[in-house]
Formats: sequence, C-alpha cells, structure tokens
Amino acid sequence: MENQELSGTITRADSRWIIVCDFDGTISCADVTDTLMEKFGHPDWQLLETRWKNNEIGSRDCLSGQISLLDVSRQQMDECLDKIKIDPEFCRFARWAKTEAIPLYVVSDGLDYAIERILSNNNIAGLPVIANHLEQVSERRWRISFPHFDPQCQFASGTCKCRVARTLNPRAFLVIGDGRSDFCVAAKASHVLAKKSLLTQCLKGGIPHTPFNSFSEVRVCVEGLTIQDSLPIPSQENV
Ligand SMILES: [Mg+2]
Ligand SMILES: [Zn+2]
Repeated sequence: MENQELSGTITRADSRWIIVCDFDGTISCADVTDTLMEKFGHPDWQLLETRWKNNEIGSRDCLSGQISLLDVSRQQMDECLDKIKIDPEFCRFARWAKTEAIPLYVVSDGLDYAIERILSNNNIAGLPVIANHLEQVSERRWRISFPHFDPQCQFASGTCKCRVARTLNPRAFLVIGDGRSDFCVAAKASHVLAKKSLLTQCLKGGIPHTPFNSFSEVRVCVEGLTIQDSLPIPSQENV
C-alpha cells in the first residue's frame, strides 16, 4: 500500500472542530511504553508504575524515571516497535477524516519516536503527532523530555492533553481515548469516544460520550454527530 499523505487535514481554515486522538491502547493495541519497559527495563520500572497508578506521582515523573531505567540499543528498540500492532481500521478512519476535512491529531502521553515509527510501519504518513520527546543519549541509554507539560494540569501528565487541545482549537474538540492520560482533556471535550477506564471516567463524571471498541465504530459515530447541532461550541471564556 502507498503512504497516505494526511497532512492536508490540518490546513483547512474552515474547520470548526478537531479530533484529538490518543495513541497507546486506542490506535495501538498494546501500550508502547509498557512493552518496552517489560522487555528492556530494569525491574524497578514497576515501582514507578504502581506509584503512578496510586496517584502518588504524575505520568511526567513516572515516565522520566522509567525511561532512565531502559537499557536498549536503537536496533533492538526498533525491532520491538515493529511488532506492535494497531487497530486495523485506523488507517481507513484517518483517510476518511482527511476526505471529510476533519483535522485529526494524535495527542499522546507516550513517546513521539515510537508513535511516528509505528504509524509509518502502517503506511500512515503526515498525521500530526504531539507527544513526549524521546532521544538517545548513548548506545543503550535514553532520555525523555516534555515539551507539552503544563504545571497547572491536575494530573501532572507529561503531555497535558487539555492544554494541547486548547491551543489547537479552543472552540470544539472531539476526544478519542481509552485511559488515564485522556482524563484531563475529556472533561473539557465537546464529545468523547471512550473505552476502558476512560469510559468509566465519562460515566462517573457525566461527560457526554459514546463507547467504542474499534475505529470502524468511531467513523459511524462521528458521522452521526451533527456538529453544529449536537456538539456544543464553548465560548472562548469557558475553556
Ligand atoms: Mg491510551
Ligand atoms: Zn491537562
């Protein structure tokens, strides 16, 4: 299959709303960071994971600690990333969004390098990816930095998705996600497509949402939303 050039989706000035889509567990089947840590991390990575799950630390501190425990060459990392599968319907969905001129952003609290490689493995090119920045510091050592961190974010996430969404389009955004990294942005979304713990969070918080399992359902749902009628467009002051 040829590469699908999707970058045109972000240049449409007439779009009134955008899609903010999570990567790990939403587009990808497995969580990339967990997969890398299980394979190449010092076992202490689990201690950080537990502290994060218990809300003792935010994902920013969790991830910086975990990435410093990685011991892996670039070649080994690439081989591992190349085995990670994505939702087989995502590519078709991304193409459809482009046809419909709906701006689609991958906004992730994971690793930019991994996401870009996995998308490219699946012949998806040109989708904007906003995530934490992974860089190699020596043969087997890596470092992560957080260009989209927001000290105000109550979840202390590495990438604060609510800040990113606000910057991209303060008027209206649809969130697609599955977990804790989506909680901050889901609370401010016009509508959420949710699975797993994000679904529980939407139910608990009374957040307007639709449950989904695969991207084939996402398209049907987005088509069913009449944007001007069903999606409230919040005023600038409210966001
Ligand atoms: Mg996720
Ligand atoms: Zn946030």
